[in-house]
Amino acid sequence: MELLRLEATTLSLGDRVLSLDREGRPYHYFRQGLTYKRALDGSLHLRFREGERKRRRLPREEALAIYGETLDLARRHLQDPERRREALRWTPEALLDPTPYRRAYLWPVGILPPDAYLSVVLQATTGCTWNRCAFCSFYQDRPFQKRSAAEFGGHVEAVLDLLGRGRLLRRGVFLADGNALALSEPLTPLLEEVGRRFPREPVLGFLDLFAGVRKEASWWARLYALGLRRVYIGLETGHAPLLALLGKPGHPKEVLPLARALKGAGLGLGVILMVGAGGKAYGKAHREESLNLLAELPLDRGDIVYLSPFQEIPGTPYAALGLEPLPQVEAELSLWAEAIRRMGLRAARYDIREFLY
Ligand code: SF4
Repeated sequence: MELLRLEATTLSLGDRVLSLDREGRPYHYFRQGLTYKRALDGSLHLRFREGERKRRRLPREEALAIYGETLDLARRHLQDPERRREALRWTPEALLDPTPYRRAYLWPVGILPPDAYLSVVLQATTGCTWNRCAFCSFYQDRPFQKRSAAEFGGHVEAVLDLLGRGRLLRRGVFLADGNALALSEPLTPLLEEVGRRFPREPVLGFLDLFAGVRKEASWWARLYALGLRRVYIGLETGHAPLLALLGKPGHPKEVLPLARALKGAGLGLGVILMVGAGGKAYGKAHREESLNLLAELPLDRGDIVYLSPFQEIPGTPYAALGLEPLPQVEAELSLWAEAIRRMGLRAARYDIREFLY
């Protein structure tokens, strides 16, 4: 059976479900308990359950075989002439080719919050202003750079070229990279450009405490007027000694005036905490002080508390600390989530291994 939506085409064939964007590219393929997802750089990612959830990126030959299979399904089962044309102009090699993505993104998109995987990512900056947190490797490959209005305009064009009609699947604009909202005045022409190219689309972005606390409350109202709607704060912990150990500047309590200013401007918040960071030694203080701090924040049901099961990344300064990991991170995460829900707030999982753009 084929389902023709304005933004996508879906073929349901018993135990197989194949979804294509309006450029005819498969973006989701379910086959007998296995889920394949195509990222915009052409790479293909498998998700499946084997007791726990597993994930891996397919090597070239395997990805080509799966793309060949999706094309074969489209050839045999797609009836609508326009949707057939969209799908059948591709080859497995073209689907795997990263060149169009590299033209649009000089540096690959490092990470997004889970509810922004289907946004359009625009890099107002590349890299992170700080780039020295002990646990973070997202932007180690690049220097921090701001984009001028002209450079940003060129980047927007290239992203729109990459997406083509695949843009119809996407909602919202995520202003990347790690800390684009650290910019001051140079941000305004970039947001104006976003407003012109993506009218009425909500703008989202990460903000770290140390960058946020330096802004006046009125600044956030200006950004709201320019389309900013949600800010994701990498708080990580409410326990100050742990934040210092993680190499992140500032004091967790600084989130209180910042959150008040952001909420006062009408912005939604996503507050990110890393469950399991600091390992066994910090487990109790990390949980208690983080939950206490959350209880003081002016959050409501429109906001989200993201709980990220901590992933130690080899080669980072954190790994060199040699901290004994928390033995049951998933059980700990459930404890946190229950406590947050008891506060009347929304808690959601933020597993960085699931990130795909
Ligand atoms: S956690 Fe945030 S502030 Fe720290 S290095 Fe990573 S992107 Fe930068």
